[in-house]
Amino acid sequence: MIARSLLSFGSAASVRRGGMVLLAAFLLMPLCGTAAEHDIRHGPGVTEVLALSAYHGPLTGTPGDTPVYLLEGTEPGGTVLILGGSHAGEIASVMAALLIVEQAQVSAGRVFVIPHANNSAAWNSEGLTEDGPRTLTFTNPDGEDRVFAYGSRLTDPDHQEPDEEVFVHYPSGMELPGHEARNLNRVHPGRADGTLTQQMSYALFELVRLEGVDIMIDMHEAPPTSRLANMLISHPRALDVAVMAVMHLELLGIRLGVEASRPEFFGLSHREFGDHTDALGFLIESPNPAQESIGRRGDPVHDPDNPLTHRVRLQLLTISELLSAHAMLTPKWAVSFDFPFSMDELLTAPLGAFLR
Ligand SMILES: [Zn+2]
Repeated sequence: MIARSLLSFGSAASVRRGGMVLLAAFLLMPLCGTAAEHDIRHGPGVTEVLALSAYHGPLTGTPGDTPVYLLEGTEPGGTVLILGGSHAGEIASVMAALLIVEQAQVSAGRVFVIPHANNSAAWNSEGLTEDGPRTLTFTNPDGEDRVFAYGSRLTDPDHQEPDEEVFVHYPSGMELPGHEARNLNRVHPGRADGTLTQQMSYALFELVRLEGVDIMIDMHEAPPTSRLANMLISHPRALDVAVMAVMHLELLGIRLGVEASRPEFFGLSHREFGDHTDALGFLIESPNPAQESIGRRGDPVHDPDNPLTHRVRLQLLTISELLSAHAMLTPKWAVSFDFPFSMDELLTAPLGAFLR
């Protein structure tokens, strides 16, 4: 396994970026602080570890920088980007990405995985229940505790300019409440010289453009009673892939609704990656009881109806079916990965059983 340093500029795409990175350094904003590190142990499938700042130099040393894991198969194929933690409290998205990094083996194509897409939000407790957990702990098969950040929907307010009353989305000009300036999934496609959150988004778009990503999948969660829970949202260009994936998921006992991103969904990943890059954009929403309003909130891990393991399984199976569907519809395209356990094992064993 090759594990280059986090700030490696060794890949072909990084070399192409050299000039831009130097230029961008002059635009560097005083983005303060660094986030604590995450306990992520990469498995044998990881072929390279990069940093998001490799795609946008000014993120270097800021709380918005985050590890990017590449799993490259021996067979040629397409390229996929998988995002967890765009909203850091939507913990099934983080843990599903983590399981890919720790356990998946890619046979064909390239899979880029970012478990903490908004790394600043990972350590922000805004919006969480006051006496609720700030970390989640799982015991791995060796009996060792693995501790993970349990964060917020928003970038830490200490990490960028104070919110204005109104956030004006760039470039559409759409107006949103001021705090949405710190919502990674409202600021896409970002801005090279914007706020920390806009720069994180910009770096993700640079990754997609420079690495030739074909499919971008952004994992999220929603309250189980919300219309969005158990939903697959697709850019209109990708609707055939989404519908085929959902039909196959139904055979596995998973029922998802499909929705096409509407033109007015400015700032949202499925819409903006589809509009501003060649990639097909998807967003998956699993049902998370911890996102219900205070008083009705369930346990993010052990809820009897929607335990974390079931939600992680939903995310991973949906990703798998999206990739299979795209491969079926696109000659010579393939990205496939496998785990050393079956997805049904997630129905009975605790999450720690699948961690390193
Ligand atoms: Zn979300």
